[in-house]
Amino acid sequence: MQTITTLAELRETVLQWRDAGERIALVPTMGNLHEGHLRLVEEAHSRAERIVVSIFVNPMQFSDASAGAGDYKNYPRTLESDQEKLSGMTIDVDVLFTPSVEEVYPGGIENETRIEVPEISNILCGEFRPGHFVGVATILAKLFNMVQPGVAVFGEKDYQQLLVIRRFVSDLCFPIEIVGVPTVREGDRLAMSSRNRYLTSEQRKKAATLNQELLLAKHSIKNGLTDFSAIEKKATEHLKAAGFRPEYFSVRRADNLQEANPEDKDLVVLAAAWLGDARLIDNIRV
Ligand code: AMP
Repeated sequence: MQTITTLAELRETVLQWRDAGERIALVPTMGNLHEGHLRLVEEAHSRAERIVVSIFVNPMQFSDASAGAGDYKNYPRTLESDQEKLSGMTIDVDVLFTPSVEEVYPGGIENETRIEVPEISNILCGEFRPGHFVGVATILAKLFNMVQPGVAVFGEKDYQQLLVIRRFVSDLCFPIEIVGVPTVREGDRLAMSSRNRYLTSEQRKKAATLNQELLLAKHSIKNGLTDFSAIEKKATEHLKAAGFRPEYFSVRRADNLQEANPEDKDLVVLAAAWLGDARLIDNIRV
Protein backbone atom coordinates (compact mmCIF):
# COMPACT_ATOMS: atom_id res chain seq x y z
CA MET A 1 0.00 0.00 0.00
CA GLN A 2 1.28 3.37 -1.06
CA THR A 3 0.43 6.45 1.00
CA ILE A 4 -0.08 9.51 -1.21
CA THR A 5 -0.56 13.04 0.11
CA THR A 6 -0.56 15.21 -3.02
CA LEU A 7 -3.10 15.55 -5.79
CA ALA A 8 -0.35 15.56 -8.45
CA GLU A 9 0.95 12.14 -7.40
CA LEU A 10 -2.55 10.74 -7.05
CA ARG A 11 -3.48 11.87 -10.56
CA GLU A 12 -0.37 10.25 -12.03
CA THR A 13 -1.21 6.92 -10.37
CA VAL A 14 -4.90 7.05 -11.30
CA LEU A 15 -4.03 7.90 -14.91
CA GLN A 16 -1.91 4.75 -15.24
CA TRP A 17 -4.74 2.59 -13.93
CA ARG A 18 -7.30 4.21 -16.19
CA ASP A 19 -5.00 3.79 -19.21
CA ALA A 20 -4.82 0.08 -18.36
CA GLY A 21 -8.63 -0.03 -18.27
CA GLU A 22 -8.77 -0.85 -14.56
CA ARG A 23 -11.85 -0.06 -12.48
CA ILE A 24 -11.17 1.96 -9.33
CA ALA A 25 -13.10 1.76 -6.05
CA LEU A 26 -12.98 4.61 -3.55
CA VAL A 27 -13.63 4.27 0.19
CA PRO A 28 -13.77 7.77 1.71
CA THR A 29 -13.21 8.00 5.49
CA MET A 30 -12.10 10.39 8.19
CA GLY A 31 -9.73 7.78 9.64
CA ASN A 32 -9.58 6.22 13.10
CA LEU A 33 -10.47 3.06 11.26
CA HIS A 34 -12.50 0.25 12.80
CA GLU A 35 -14.06 -2.96 11.47
CA GLY A 36 -16.91 -1.02 9.86
CA HIS A 37 -14.44 0.82 7.63
CA LEU A 38 -12.57 -2.41 6.84
CA ARG A 39 -15.84 -4.02 5.78
CA LEU A 40 -16.25 -1.19 3.23
CA VAL A 41 -12.76 -1.94 1.91
CA GLU A 42 -13.70 -5.62 1.47
CA GLU A 43 -16.80 -4.58 -0.44
CA ALA A 44 -14.64 -2.30 -2.62
CA HIS A 45 -12.32 -5.23 -3.33
CA SER A 46 -15.19 -7.31 -4.66
CA ARG A 47 -16.17 -4.56 -7.11
CA ALA A 48 -12.97 -3.18 -8.65
CA GLU A 49 -9.37 -3.92 -9.57
CA ARG A 50 -7.91 -0.97 -7.68
CA ILE A 51 -8.77 0.34 -4.22
CA VAL A 52 -8.18 3.85 -2.92
CA VAL A 53 -8.98 4.58 0.73
CA SER A 54 -9.00 8.25 1.64
CA ILE A 55 -8.51 9.65 5.12
CA PHE A 56 -9.38 13.31 5.45
CA VAL A 57 -10.99 15.04 8.42
CA ASN A 58 -12.98 17.52 6.38
CA PRO A 59 -13.23 20.91 8.09
CA MET A 60 -16.10 22.02 5.84
CA GLN A 61 -18.49 19.55 7.44
CA PHE A 62 -17.78 20.62 11.03
CA SER A 63 -19.49 23.76 12.30
CA ASP A 64 -16.66 24.38 14.77
CA ALA A 65 -13.73 23.91 12.35
CA SER A 66 -13.08 27.60 11.66
CA ALA A 67 -12.81 28.18 15.40
CA GLY A 68 -10.23 25.37 15.45
CA ALA A 69 -12.15 23.87 18.35
CA GLY A 70 -14.57 21.20 19.49
CA ASP A 71 -15.42 18.10 17.47
CA TYR A 72 -13.14 19.03 14.55
CA LYS A 73 -10.12 19.69 16.72
CA ASN A 74 -10.72 16.64 18.92
CA TYR A 75 -11.55 14.22 16.11
CA PRO A 76 -9.22 11.23 16.60
CA ARG A 77 -6.34 11.33 14.10
CA THR A 78 -4.56 7.97 14.21
CA LEU A 79 -2.78 7.70 10.86
CA GLU A 80 -0.11 5.18 11.90
CA SER A 81 -2.50 2.63 13.34
CA ASP A 82 -4.87 3.21 10.40
CA GLN A 83 -2.01 2.38 8.02
CA GLU A 84 -1.27 -0.77 10.00
CA LYS A 85 -4.91 -1.88 9.92
CA LEU A 86 -5.13 -1.44 6.15
CA SER A 87 -1.75 -3.11 5.50
CA GLY A 88 -2.77 -5.98 7.79
CA MET A 89 -5.79 -6.87 5.65
CA THR A 90 -5.60 -9.98 3.51
CA ILE A 91 -6.62 -7.92 0.49
CA ASP A 92 -4.44 -5.25 -1.08
CA VAL A 93 -5.31 -1.59 -0.73
CA ASP A 94 -3.43 0.14 -3.55
CA VAL A 95 -3.41 3.71 -2.29
CA LEU A 96 -4.11 5.45 0.99
CA PHE A 97 -4.79 9.08 0.08
CA THR A 98 -4.26 11.47 3.01
CA PRO A 99 -4.19 15.02 1.64
CA SER A 100 -3.67 18.08 3.83
CA VAL A 101 -6.39 20.72 4.23
CA GLU A 102 -4.28 23.05 2.02
CA GLU A 103 -4.10 20.42 -0.72
CA VAL A 104 -7.87 19.99 -0.74
CA TYR A 105 -8.85 23.65 -0.23
CA PRO A 106 -5.94 25.67 -1.69
CA GLY A 107 -8.03 28.85 -1.88
CA GLY A 108 -9.36 28.51 1.66
CA ILE A 109 -12.68 26.98 2.62
CA GLU A 110 -14.71 30.17 2.61
CA ASN A 111 -14.18 30.77 -1.12
CA GLU A 112 -14.90 27.24 -2.26
CA THR A 113 -17.64 26.23 -4.66
CA ARG A 114 -20.20 24.27 -2.67
CA ILE A 115 -22.67 21.54 -3.43
CA GLU A 116 -26.02 21.81 -1.78
CA VAL A 117 -28.59 19.05 -2.01
CA PRO A 118 -31.94 20.66 -1.17
CA GLU A 119 -34.53 19.44 1.34
CA ILE A 120 -32.92 16.20 2.46
CA SER A 121 -29.85 18.10 3.73
CA ASN A 122 -31.88 20.23 6.09
CA ILE A 123 -33.86 17.63 8.02
CA LEU A 124 -32.89 15.17 10.81
CA CYS A 125 -29.08 15.43 11.22
CA GLY A 126 -29.09 18.46 8.92
CA GLU A 127 -31.39 20.32 11.27
CA PHE A 128 -29.00 19.83 14.18
CA ARG A 129 -25.80 20.24 12.15
CA PRO A 130 -26.49 23.13 9.73
CA GLY A 131 -24.14 23.10 6.75
CA HIS A 132 -22.92 19.56 7.53
CA PHE A 133 -24.21 17.92 4.36
CA VAL A 134 -22.97 20.78 2.18
CA GLY A 135 -19.51 19.97 3.54
CA VAL A 136 -20.02 16.24 2.97
CA ALA A 137 -21.30 16.63 -0.61
CA THR A 138 -18.57 19.13 -1.51
CA ILE A 139 -15.67 17.03 -0.23
CA LEU A 140 -17.04 13.90 -1.90
CA ALA A 141 -17.49 15.66 -5.24
CA LYS A 142 -13.87 16.78 -4.96
CA LEU A 143 -12.65 13.29 -4.04
CA PHE A 144 -14.66 11.79 -6.91
CA ASN A 145 -12.93 14.11 -9.37
CA MET A 146 -9.53 13.49 -7.82
CA VAL A 147 -9.75 9.68 -7.71
CA GLN A 148 -12.16 9.15 -10.64
CA PRO A 149 -13.58 5.91 -9.25
CA GLY A 150 -16.09 3.69 -11.04
CA VAL A 151 -17.57 2.78 -7.66
CA ALA A 152 -17.59 4.37 -4.20
CA VAL A 153 -18.53 2.52 -1.01
CA PHE A 154 -20.31 3.96 2.04
CA GLY A 155 -21.85 2.70 5.28
CA GLU A 156 -25.60 2.52 5.85
CA LYS A 157 -24.93 3.65 9.43
CA ASP A 158 -24.93 7.16 7.95
CA TYR A 159 -28.21 6.53 6.15
CA GLN A 160 -29.09 10.16 5.50
CA GLN A 161 -25.58 10.81 4.20
CA LEU A 162 -25.94 7.89 1.80
CA LEU A 163 -29.16 9.35 0.37
CA VAL A 164 -27.59 12.82 0.05
CA ILE A 165 -24.70 11.24 -1.87
CA ARG A 166 -27.00 9.23 -4.16
CA ARG A 167 -28.94 12.41 -4.92
CA PHE A 168 -26.04 14.66 -5.92
CA VAL A 169 -24.32 11.87 -7.85
CA SER A 170 -27.53 11.44 -9.83
CA ASP A 171 -28.29 15.18 -10.15
CA LEU A 172 -24.75 16.06 -11.28
CA CYS A 173 -24.37 12.96 -13.49
CA PHE A 174 -21.24 11.58 -11.85
CA PRO A 175 -20.55 8.27 -13.64
CA ILE A 176 -20.07 6.48 -10.32
CA GLU A 177 -21.86 3.52 -8.77
CA ILE A 178 -22.72 4.21 -5.13
CA VAL A 179 -22.76 1.14 -2.90
CA GLY A 180 -24.17 1.02 0.66
CA VAL A 181 -22.89 -1.54 3.18
CA PRO A 182 -24.89 -2.70 6.25
CA THR A 183 -23.77 -1.30 9.60
CA VAL A 184 -21.07 -3.28 11.40
CA ARG A 185 -21.88 -3.59 15.11
CA GLU A 186 -20.32 -4.47 18.44
CA GLY A 187 -21.50 -7.61 20.29
CA ASP A 188 -24.31 -5.67 21.99
CA ARG A 189 -25.35 -4.17 18.61
CA LEU A 190 -23.93 -0.70 19.23
CA ALA A 191 -22.97 0.63 15.79
CA MET A 192 -19.19 0.88 15.51
CA SER A 193 -18.10 4.50 15.34
CA SER A 194 -14.97 6.56 15.86
CA ARG A 195 -16.99 8.61 18.35
CA ASN A 196 -17.67 5.63 20.66
CA ARG A 197 -14.29 6.31 22.21
CA TYR A 198 -15.78 9.42 23.86
CA LEU A 199 -18.00 7.16 26.02
CA THR A 200 -17.01 6.42 29.61
CA SER A 201 -17.21 2.74 30.57
CA GLU A 202 -20.49 3.44 32.39
CA GLN A 203 -21.94 5.17 29.29
CA ARG A 204 -20.62 2.40 27.05
CA LYS A 205 -22.79 -0.11 28.91
CA LYS A 206 -25.87 2.03 28.25
CA ALA A 207 -25.07 2.92 24.65
CA ALA A 208 -26.73 -0.16 23.16
CA THR A 209 -30.09 1.21 24.39
CA LEU A 210 -30.19 3.32 21.23
CA ASN A 211 -30.28 0.26 18.98
CA GLN A 212 -32.66 -1.55 21.34
CA GLU A 213 -35.15 1.32 20.99
CA LEU A 214 -34.86 1.15 17.21
CA LEU A 215 -35.52 -2.59 17.33
CA LEU A 216 -38.54 -2.02 19.59
CA ALA A 217 -39.89 0.59 17.18
CA LYS A 218 -39.40 -1.79 14.25
CA HIS A 219 -41.29 -4.57 16.05
CA SER A 220 -44.14 -2.19 16.96
CA ILE A 221 -44.51 -1.16 13.32
CA LYS A 222 -44.28 -4.75 12.10
CA ASN A 223 -46.97 -5.67 14.62
CA GLY A 224 -49.28 -3.16 12.96
CA LEU A 225 -48.86 -0.03 15.09
CA THR A 226 -49.38 2.95 12.79
CA ASP A 227 -49.25 5.81 15.30
CA PHE A 228 -45.65 6.68 14.48
CA SER A 229 -45.58 9.78 16.66
CA ALA A 230 -46.54 7.67 19.69
CA ILE A 231 -43.69 5.27 18.87
CA GLU A 232 -41.27 8.19 18.53
CA LYS A 233 -42.43 9.78 21.78
CA LYS A 234 -42.11 6.58 23.77
CA ALA A 235 -38.61 5.86 22.45
CA THR A 236 -37.51 9.43 23.16
CA GLU A 237 -38.76 9.11 26.74
CA HIS A 238 -36.97 5.79 27.21
CA LEU A 239 -33.74 7.29 25.89
CA LYS A 240 -34.00 10.28 28.21
CA ALA A 241 -34.65 7.97 31.16
CA ALA A 242 -31.49 6.02 30.22
CA GLY A 243 -29.42 9.23 30.33
CA PHE A 244 -29.37 10.14 26.62
CA ARG A 245 -30.05 13.60 25.21
CA PRO A 246 -31.99 12.68 22.06
CA GLU A 247 -31.91 14.98 19.03
CA TYR A 248 -34.45 13.00 17.05
CA PHE A 249 -36.07 9.59 16.86
CA SER A 250 -38.12 9.43 13.71
CA VAL A 251 -40.00 7.04 11.44
CA ARG A 252 -39.44 8.07 7.82
CA ARG A 253 -39.89 6.90 4.26
CA ALA A 254 -36.76 4.97 3.32
CA ASP A 255 -36.46 6.47 -0.17
CA ASN A 256 -36.51 10.20 0.63
CA LEU A 257 -36.68 10.55 4.44
CA GLN A 258 -40.00 12.37 4.30
CA GLU A 259 -42.31 11.78 7.28
CA ALA A 260 -43.98 8.40 6.97
CA ASN A 261 -47.65 7.65 6.53
CA PRO A 262 -49.26 4.38 7.70
CA GLU A 263 -49.68 3.27 4.07
CA ASP A 264 -45.95 3.64 3.28
CA LYS A 265 -44.35 0.22 2.95
CA ASP A 266 -40.61 0.93 2.89
CA LEU A 267 -39.63 2.66 6.13
CA VAL A 268 -36.52 3.51 8.09
CA VAL A 269 -36.38 4.53 11.73
CA LEU A 270 -33.52 6.92 12.44
CA ALA A 271 -32.15 8.25 15.71
CA ALA A 272 -29.46 10.61 16.93
CA ALA A 273 -28.74 11.13 20.60
CA TRP A 274 -25.96 12.40 22.79
CA LEU A 275 -24.62 10.21 25.55
CA GLY A 276 -22.10 12.25 27.52
CA ASP A 277 -19.66 13.69 24.97
CA ALA A 278 -20.57 11.23 22.22
CA ARG A 279 -23.16 11.94 19.56
CA LEU A 280 -24.47 8.53 18.50
CA ILE A 281 -26.53 7.83 15.39
CA ASP A 282 -28.18 4.65 14.22
CA ASN A 283 -31.07 3.49 12.04
CA ILE A 284 -33.06 0.40 11.19
CA ARG A 285 -35.02 -0.52 8.06
CA VAL A 286 -38.57 -1.76 8.43
P1 AMP B 1 -16.32 8.12 8.91
O1 AMP B 1 -14.85 7.86 8.89
O2 AMP B 1 -16.94 7.88 10.25
O3 AMP B 1 -16.69 9.41 8.27
O4 AMP B 1 -16.97 7.00 8.00
C1 AMP B 1 -16.45 6.67 6.75
C2 AMP B 1 -17.35 5.66 6.11
O5 AMP B 1 -17.46 4.51 6.95
C3 AMP B 1 -18.79 6.16 5.91
O6 AMP B 1 -19.27 5.69 4.67
C4 AMP B 1 -19.52 5.54 7.06
O7 AMP B 1 -20.91 5.36 6.80
C5 AMP B 1 -18.81 4.20 7.16
N1 AMP B 1 -19.00 3.61 8.50
C6 AMP B 1 -18.77 4.20 9.69
N2 AMP B 1 -19.09 3.36 10.69
C7 AMP B 1 -19.57 2.23 10.12
C8 AMP B 1 -20.08 1.00 10.61
N3 AMP B 1 -20.20 0.76 11.91
N4 AMP B 1 -20.46 0.06 9.72
C9 AMP B 1 -20.37 0.28 8.38
N5 AMP B 1 -19.89 1.43 7.85
C10 AMP B 1 -19.50 2.39 8.70
